[in-house]
Amino acid sequence: MGAALNPPAATPMIDRFGRSISYLRLSITDRCDLRCVYCMSEDMTFLPRADLLTYEELDRLCAAFIQKGVRKLRLTGGEPLVRRNVMSLLRLLSRHLHSGGLDELTLTTNGLQLQRYAAELRDCGIQRINVSLDTLDPDKFRAVTRWGDLGRVLAGITAARDAGLAVKINTVVLKDLNEDEIPRLLDWAHGHGMTLTLIEVMPMGDVGTGRIDQYVPLSLVRNRLAQRYTLSELDERSGGPARYLRVQETGGKLGLITPMTHNFCESCNRVRITCTGTLHTCLGQDDACDLRSPLRASADDRLLLEAIDRAIDAKPKGHDFIIDRRSDRPSVGRHMSVTGG
Ligand code: SAM
Ligand code: SF4
Repeated sequence: MGAALNPPAATPMIDRFGRSISYLRLSITDRCDLRCVYCMSEDMTFLPRADLLTYEELDRLCAAFIQKGVRKLRLTGGEPLVRRNVMSLLRLLSRHLHSGGLDELTLTTNGLQLQRYAAELRDCGIQRINVSLDTLDPDKFRAVTRWGDLGRVLAGITAARDAGLAVKINTVVLKDLNEDEIPRLLDWAHGHGMTLTLIEVMPMGDVGTGRIDQYVPLSLVRNRLAQRYTLSELDERSGGPARYLRVQETGGKLGLITPMTHNFCESCNRVRITCTGTLHTCLGQDDACDLRSPLRASADDRLLLEAIDRAIDAKPKGHDFIIDRRSDRPSVGRHMSVTGG
Protein backbone atom coordinates (compact mmCIF):
# COMPACT_ATOMS: atom_id res chain seq x y z
CA MET A 1 0.00 0.00 0.00
CA GLY A 2 1.50 3.38 -0.94
CA ALA A 3 0.35 6.90 -0.13
CA ALA A 4 -3.22 7.31 1.05
CA LEU A 5 -5.99 7.76 -1.51
CA ASN A 6 -7.29 11.34 -1.57
CA PRO A 7 -5.46 12.30 1.62
CA PRO A 8 -7.67 14.30 4.00
CA ALA A 9 -6.45 17.72 5.07
CA ALA A 10 -3.97 17.50 7.94
CA THR A 11 -3.79 20.11 10.67
CA PRO A 12 -0.47 20.98 12.37
CA MET A 13 0.32 19.29 15.67
CA ILE A 14 0.14 21.81 18.52
CA ASP A 15 -0.52 20.46 21.99
CA ARG A 16 -2.47 21.92 24.92
CA PHE A 17 0.68 23.66 26.17
CA GLY A 18 1.29 25.40 22.85
CA ARG A 19 4.19 23.14 21.88
CA SER A 20 4.47 22.54 18.17
CA ILE A 21 5.54 19.02 17.17
CA SER A 22 8.08 18.97 14.35
CA TYR A 23 10.39 16.07 15.24
CA LEU A 24 9.59 12.37 14.94
CA ARG A 25 11.78 9.57 16.24
CA LEU A 26 10.93 6.23 14.73
CA SER A 27 12.14 3.01 16.27
CA ILE A 28 12.26 0.45 13.46
CA THR A 29 13.21 -2.55 15.61
CA ASP A 30 13.51 -3.30 19.33
CA ARG A 31 16.39 -5.72 18.59
CA CYS A 32 20.04 -4.93 18.96
CA ASP A 33 23.42 -6.54 18.46
CA LEU A 34 24.54 -5.18 21.87
CA ARG A 35 23.05 -5.25 25.40
CA CYS A 36 24.24 -2.01 27.02
CA VAL A 37 23.90 -2.39 30.79
CA TYR A 38 21.86 0.82 31.22
CA CYS A 39 19.54 0.11 28.29
CA MET A 40 18.63 -3.57 28.40
CA SER A 41 18.73 -6.55 30.71
CA GLU A 42 20.99 -9.37 29.58
CA ASP A 43 18.09 -11.71 28.81
CA MET A 44 15.82 -9.24 27.01
CA THR A 45 12.74 -10.67 25.34
CA PHE A 46 12.22 -9.16 21.91
CA LEU A 47 9.00 -8.78 19.99
CA PRO A 48 8.04 -11.49 17.50
CA ARG A 49 9.14 -10.29 14.06
CA ALA A 50 5.57 -10.74 12.80
CA ASP A 51 4.43 -7.89 15.09
CA LEU A 52 6.62 -5.30 13.37
CA LEU A 53 5.11 -2.84 10.96
CA THR A 54 6.28 -3.38 7.39
CA TYR A 55 8.45 -0.76 5.70
CA GLU A 56 5.44 0.29 3.62
CA GLU A 57 3.46 0.86 6.82
CA LEU A 58 6.29 2.75 8.51
CA ASP A 59 6.65 4.86 5.39
CA ARG A 60 2.93 5.65 5.40
CA LEU A 61 3.08 6.65 9.07
CA CYS A 62 6.02 8.96 8.39
CA ALA A 63 4.23 10.53 5.43
CA ALA A 64 1.24 11.28 7.67
CA PHE A 65 3.46 12.93 10.27
CA ILE A 66 5.30 14.94 7.62
CA GLN A 67 1.93 16.09 6.29
CA LYS A 68 1.20 17.22 9.86
CA GLY A 69 4.32 19.31 10.21
CA VAL A 70 7.22 17.01 11.08
CA ARG A 71 10.44 18.47 9.60
CA LYS A 72 13.02 16.20 11.21
CA LEU A 73 12.93 12.41 11.23
CA ARG A 74 15.34 10.22 13.18
CA LEU A 75 15.46 6.44 12.81
CA THR A 76 16.44 4.61 15.96
CA GLY A 77 15.82 1.35 17.79
CA GLY A 78 17.06 -1.02 19.23
CA GLU A 79 19.73 -0.83 16.62
CA PRO A 80 18.21 0.50 13.40
CA LEU A 81 20.97 -0.88 11.19
CA VAL A 82 20.26 -4.49 12.20
CA ARG A 83 16.80 -4.57 10.66
CA ARG A 84 16.95 -6.49 7.40
CA ASN A 85 17.12 -4.40 4.23
CA VAL A 86 17.08 -1.16 6.22
CA MET A 87 18.40 0.82 3.27
CA SER A 88 15.21 0.21 1.32
CA LEU A 89 13.29 2.08 4.04
CA LEU A 90 15.80 4.91 4.04
CA ARG A 91 15.59 5.18 0.28
CA LEU A 92 11.80 5.41 0.49
CA LEU A 93 11.99 8.10 3.18
CA SER A 94 14.65 10.12 1.38
CA ARG A 95 12.05 11.32 -1.16
CA HIS A 96 10.82 13.72 1.53
CA LEU A 97 14.23 15.38 1.53
CA HIS A 98 14.07 15.85 -2.24
CA SER A 99 10.50 17.17 -2.11
CA GLY A 100 11.30 19.59 0.73
CA GLY A 101 8.88 17.80 3.09
CA LEU A 102 11.72 17.13 5.51
CA ASP A 103 14.66 19.30 6.56
CA GLU A 104 16.56 16.37 7.96
CA LEU A 105 16.63 12.58 7.87
CA THR A 106 19.05 11.05 10.32
CA LEU A 107 19.68 8.12 12.61
CA THR A 108 21.14 7.07 15.93
CA THR A 109 23.33 3.97 15.86
CA ASN A 110 25.78 2.02 17.95
CA GLY A 111 28.14 2.15 14.96
CA LEU A 112 28.73 -1.58 14.58
CA GLN A 113 27.23 -1.73 11.06
CA LEU A 114 28.57 1.58 9.78
CA GLN A 115 31.44 0.18 7.74
CA ARG A 116 28.83 -1.64 5.69
CA TYR A 117 26.30 1.18 5.34
CA ALA A 118 28.09 4.55 5.57
CA ALA A 119 28.30 5.27 1.83
CA GLU A 120 24.69 4.24 1.21
CA LEU A 121 23.49 6.44 4.06
CA ARG A 122 25.21 9.40 2.47
CA ASP A 123 23.68 8.52 -0.91
CA CYS A 124 20.24 8.66 0.70
CA GLY A 125 20.76 12.30 1.65
CA ILE A 126 21.69 11.67 5.27
CA GLN A 127 24.19 14.32 6.28
CA ARG A 128 24.86 13.60 9.91
CA ILE A 129 24.36 10.76 12.34
CA ASN A 130 24.64 10.18 16.08
CA VAL A 131 26.87 7.35 17.22
CA SER A 132 26.60 6.13 20.80
CA LEU A 133 29.94 5.46 22.43
CA ASP A 134 30.51 5.44 26.18
CA THR A 135 34.21 4.63 26.46
CA LEU A 136 37.44 4.40 24.45
CA ASP A 137 38.73 1.54 26.58
CA PRO A 138 38.14 -1.84 24.85
CA ASP A 139 37.63 -3.74 28.13
CA LYS A 140 35.24 -1.17 29.52
CA PHE A 141 33.42 -1.13 26.18
CA ARG A 142 32.94 -4.88 26.44
CA ALA A 143 31.70 -4.46 30.02
CA VAL A 144 29.19 -1.69 29.15
CA THR A 145 27.84 -3.39 26.03
CA ARG A 146 28.24 -6.94 27.43
CA TRP A 147 30.22 -8.13 24.38
CA GLY A 148 30.86 -5.27 21.93
CA ASP A 149 34.05 -4.83 19.92
CA LEU A 150 35.26 -1.23 20.27
CA GLY A 151 37.56 -1.53 17.24
CA ARG A 152 34.57 -2.18 15.00
CA VAL A 153 32.74 0.91 16.25
CA LEU A 154 35.81 3.10 15.75
CA ALA A 155 36.25 1.70 12.23
CA GLY A 156 32.56 2.43 11.62
CA ILE A 157 32.99 6.04 12.74
CA THR A 158 35.97 6.43 10.41
CA ALA A 159 33.96 4.94 7.53
CA ALA A 160 31.11 7.36 8.22
CA ARG A 161 33.41 10.37 8.26
CA ASP A 162 35.21 9.17 5.12
CA ALA A 163 31.81 8.92 3.42
CA GLY A 164 31.19 12.59 4.25
CA LEU A 165 28.81 12.13 7.17
CA ALA A 166 29.10 14.47 10.14
CA VAL A 167 29.22 12.37 13.31
CA LYS A 168 28.06 13.37 16.78
CA ILE A 169 29.09 11.17 19.67
CA ASN A 170 26.53 10.40 22.40
CA THR A 171 27.86 9.25 25.76
CA VAL A 172 25.79 8.16 28.74
CA VAL A 173 27.79 9.11 31.84
CA LEU A 174 27.95 6.13 34.22
CA LYS A 175 29.10 6.02 37.82
CA ASP A 176 32.42 4.20 38.32
CA LEU A 177 32.49 3.24 34.64
CA ASN A 178 33.27 6.20 32.43
CA GLU A 179 32.79 9.28 34.65
CA ASP A 180 36.59 9.70 34.87
CA GLU A 181 37.01 9.28 31.14
CA ILE A 182 34.97 12.25 29.97
CA PRO A 183 37.99 14.55 29.34
CA ARG A 184 39.59 11.81 27.21
CA LEU A 185 36.38 11.32 25.23
CA LEU A 186 36.04 15.07 24.80
CA ASP A 187 39.63 15.52 23.56
CA TRP A 188 39.24 12.56 21.21
CA ALA A 189 35.86 13.66 19.78
CA HIS A 190 36.89 17.29 19.34
CA GLY A 191 40.26 16.22 17.94
CA HIS A 192 38.31 14.54 15.14
CA GLY A 193 35.92 17.46 14.63
CA MET A 194 32.98 15.69 16.31
CA THR A 195 30.57 17.15 18.87
CA LEU A 196 30.34 15.17 22.10
CA THR A 197 26.97 15.01 23.84
CA LEU A 198 26.72 13.70 27.39
CA ILE A 199 23.49 12.12 28.61
CA GLU A 200 22.16 11.45 32.10
CA VAL A 201 21.01 7.89 32.60
CA MET A 202 17.21 7.63 32.76
CA PRO A 203 15.25 5.15 34.90
CA MET A 204 13.54 3.34 32.02
CA GLY A 205 12.83 -0.38 32.18
CA ASP A 206 14.25 -2.98 34.55
CA VAL A 207 17.90 -3.56 33.65
CA GLY A 208 18.71 -5.70 36.68
CA THR A 209 20.78 -2.94 38.38
CA GLY A 210 19.71 -0.13 40.68
CA ARG A 211 19.82 3.15 38.74
CA ILE A 212 21.38 4.86 41.74
CA ASP A 213 24.47 2.71 41.04
CA GLN A 214 24.68 4.08 37.48
CA TYR A 215 23.53 7.69 37.74
CA VAL A 216 25.86 10.69 37.70
CA PRO A 217 24.29 14.19 37.55
CA LEU A 218 25.74 16.19 34.67
CA SER A 219 25.90 19.26 36.91
CA LEU A 220 28.73 17.42 38.69
CA VAL A 221 30.44 16.44 35.43
CA ARG A 222 30.20 20.00 34.17
CA ASN A 223 31.79 21.37 37.36
CA ARG A 224 34.63 18.89 37.03
CA LEU A 225 35.16 19.79 33.37
CA ALA A 226 35.12 23.50 34.22
CA GLN A 227 38.25 22.97 36.34
CA ARG A 228 40.09 21.85 33.20
CA TYR A 229 38.41 23.64 30.31
CA THR A 230 36.91 27.05 29.65
CA LEU A 231 33.22 26.42 28.93
CA SER A 232 30.83 29.00 27.53
CA GLU A 233 27.11 28.57 26.87
CA LEU A 234 25.93 28.63 23.27
CA ASP A 235 22.45 29.74 22.23
CA GLU A 236 22.13 27.24 19.43
CA ARG A 237 19.88 24.17 19.54
CA SER A 238 19.90 21.17 17.23
CA GLY A 239 16.13 20.60 17.37
CA GLY A 240 16.57 18.09 20.20
CA PRO A 241 16.89 18.31 23.99
CA ALA A 242 20.65 19.07 24.17
CA ARG A 243 22.04 22.39 25.39
CA TYR A 244 25.49 23.24 24.01
CA LEU A 245 28.70 24.66 25.42
CA ARG A 246 31.81 25.79 23.54
CA VAL A 247 35.05 24.33 24.88
CA GLN A 248 37.63 27.05 24.33
CA GLU A 249 40.72 24.82 24.53
CA THR A 250 39.53 22.37 21.86
CA GLY A 251 37.28 24.69 19.84
CA GLY A 252 34.65 21.92 19.86
CA LYS A 253 31.08 21.72 21.14
CA LEU A 254 29.86 19.85 24.18
CA GLY A 255 26.17 18.91 24.39
CA LEU A 256 24.39 18.16 27.65
CA ILE A 257 21.15 16.17 27.87
CA THR A 258 19.91 16.51 31.41
CA PRO A 259 16.50 14.89 31.92
CA MET A 260 17.23 14.38 35.62
CA THR A 261 18.82 17.66 36.74
CA HIS A 262 17.26 20.11 34.29
CA ASN A 263 13.85 19.45 32.88
CA PHE A 264 13.54 20.58 29.26
CA CYS A 265 9.92 19.54 28.72
CA GLU A 266 8.54 23.06 28.24
CA SER A 267 10.21 23.22 24.82
CA CYS A 268 9.61 19.59 23.80
CA ASN A 269 8.89 19.32 20.06
CA ARG A 270 9.19 15.52 19.82
CA VAL A 271 7.07 12.39 19.57
CA ARG A 272 8.14 8.76 19.18
CA ILE A 273 6.74 5.76 17.36
CA THR A 274 7.72 2.18 18.14
CA CYS A 275 8.27 -0.53 15.54
CA THR A 276 4.77 -1.85 16.20
CA GLY A 277 3.16 1.52 15.54
CA THR A 278 2.61 2.74 19.10
CA LEU A 279 2.87 6.50 19.47
CA HIS A 280 4.48 7.81 22.68
CA THR A 281 4.10 11.55 23.06
CA CYS A 282 6.41 11.64 26.11
CA LEU A 283 9.57 9.60 26.65
CA GLY A 284 9.15 9.74 30.41
CA GLN A 285 5.49 8.77 30.80
CA ASP A 286 3.54 5.58 30.13
CA ASP A 287 1.12 7.28 27.74
CA ALA A 288 0.63 5.33 24.52
CA CYS A 289 -1.59 5.50 21.47
CA ASP A 290 -2.03 2.63 19.03
CA LEU A 291 -1.61 3.83 15.45
CA ARG A 292 -1.37 0.36 13.91
CA SER A 293 -5.14 -0.27 14.10
CA PRO A 294 -6.23 2.96 12.38
CA LEU A 295 -3.39 2.53 9.88
CA ARG A 296 -4.55 -0.95 8.94
CA ALA A 297 -8.27 -0.17 9.16
CA SER A 298 -8.34 1.75 5.89
CA ALA A 299 -6.24 2.92 2.98
CA ASP A 300 -7.51 6.41 3.69
CA ASP A 301 -5.57 8.28 6.41
CA ARG A 302 -8.60 9.84 8.10
CA LEU A 303 -8.71 7.48 11.09
CA LEU A 304 -4.94 7.67 11.45
CA LEU A 305 -4.88 11.47 11.44
CA GLU A 306 -7.73 11.58 13.98
CA ALA A 307 -5.84 9.20 16.28
CA ILE A 308 -2.70 11.36 16.01
CA ASP A 309 -4.69 14.50 16.86
CA ARG A 310 -6.18 12.86 19.97
CA ALA A 311 -2.73 11.72 21.13
CA ILE A 312 -1.13 15.13 20.59
CA ASP A 313 -3.94 16.78 22.51
CA ALA A 314 -3.15 14.47 25.46
CA LYS A 315 0.65 14.95 25.33
CA PRO A 316 1.77 15.07 28.98
CA LYS A 317 3.23 18.27 30.35
CA GLY A 318 6.52 16.55 31.15
CA HIS A 319 8.35 13.61 32.61
CA ASP A 320 8.73 12.75 36.32
CA PHE A 321 11.92 10.70 36.31
CA ILE A 322 13.19 9.88 39.81
CA ILE A 323 16.41 8.17 40.79
CA ASP A 324 16.98 7.86 44.54
CA ARG A 325 17.57 5.22 47.18
CA ARG A 326 13.87 4.98 48.08
CA SER A 327 12.53 4.38 44.55
CA ASP A 328 14.26 1.39 43.03
CA ARG A 329 11.48 0.79 40.50
CA PRO A 330 11.89 2.30 37.01
CA SER A 331 9.90 5.51 36.50
CA VAL A 332 8.76 4.12 33.16
CA GLY A 333 8.26 0.40 32.59
CA ARG A 334 9.41 0.21 28.99
CA HIS A 335 13.09 0.04 28.11
CA MET A 336 14.79 2.80 26.14
CA SER A 337 15.26 0.32 23.28
CA VAL A 338 11.48 0.35 22.70
CA THR A 339 11.40 4.03 21.75
CA GLY A 340 15.06 4.62 20.97
CA GLY A 341 15.65 7.71 23.10
N1 SAM B 1 21.18 1.40 19.31
C1 SAM B 1 21.31 2.76 18.99
C2 SAM B 1 22.34 3.43 19.84
O1 SAM B 1 22.75 2.87 20.84
O2 SAM B 1 22.71 4.54 19.49
C3 SAM B 1 20.00 3.53 19.03
C4 SAM B 1 19.06 3.24 20.17
S1 SAM B 1 19.65 3.68 21.77
C5 SAM B 1 18.28 3.19 22.78
C6 SAM B 1 19.54 5.45 21.73
C7 SAM B 1 20.29 6.19 22.78
O3 SAM B 1 19.69 5.94 24.05
C8 SAM B 1 21.75 5.80 22.92
O4 SAM B 1 22.55 6.96 22.86
C9 SAM B 1 21.83 5.18 24.28
O5 SAM B 1 23.09 5.40 24.88
C10 SAM B 1 20.72 5.88 25.01
N2 SAM B 1 20.18 5.16 26.16
C11 SAM B 1 19.76 3.88 26.25
N3 SAM B 1 19.25 3.62 27.47
C12 SAM B 1 19.34 4.76 28.18
C13 SAM B 1 18.98 5.13 29.52
N4 SAM B 1 18.40 4.28 30.34
N5 SAM B 1 19.22 6.41 29.89
C14 SAM B 1 19.79 7.30 29.05
N6 SAM B 1 20.15 7.01 27.79
C15 SAM B 1 19.93 5.75 27.36
FE1 SF4 C 1 21.54 -1.50 21.77
FE2 SF4 C 1 21.64 1.13 21.65
FE3 SF4 C 1 20.45 -0.09 23.73
FE4 SF4 C 1 23.08 -0.25 23.48
S1 SF4 C 1 21.89 1.63 23.81
S2 SF4 C 1 21.68 -1.95 23.91
S3 SF4 C 1 23.34 -0.28 21.32
S4 SF4 C 1 19.77 -0.15 21.65
